[in-house]
Amino acid sequence: MPKRLPWVVPEYCEGCTSCVGACPKGILDMRESAEETPIPWLDDPSGCTGCGRCEESCPFGGIAMTAHVEEATQRFADRRPLRKESVGVR
Ligand code: SF4
Ligand code: SF4
Repeated sequence: MPKRLPWVVPEYCEGCTSCVGACPKGILDMRESAEETPIPWLDDPSGCTGCGRCEESCPFGGIAMTAHVEEATQRFADRRPLRKESVGVR
């Protein structure tokens, strides 16, 4: 696991997909959330290098890198705050 992981902030995300395109590993996908727009998601955080390019690419503060890797991994695994019926929309 990397030393840090992206923490998606759905309230700030505008669904622009900039972060998806910025990820050199191509591991971010857009998913339906409880917000109006889809949000980026990491189905497999173990593939993340923690480089922070997703955070840097976001004009809206929709991603914050966090050192709380365990919590972030669990949140991705629990698929919170995605919609239950969420499917990929990329
Ligand atoms: S930190 Fe880097 S590798 Fe991880 S999701 Fe963001 S851009 Fe991709
Ligand atoms: S987190 Fe930022 S860059 Fe990524 S889709 Fe949302 S608004 Fe766009």
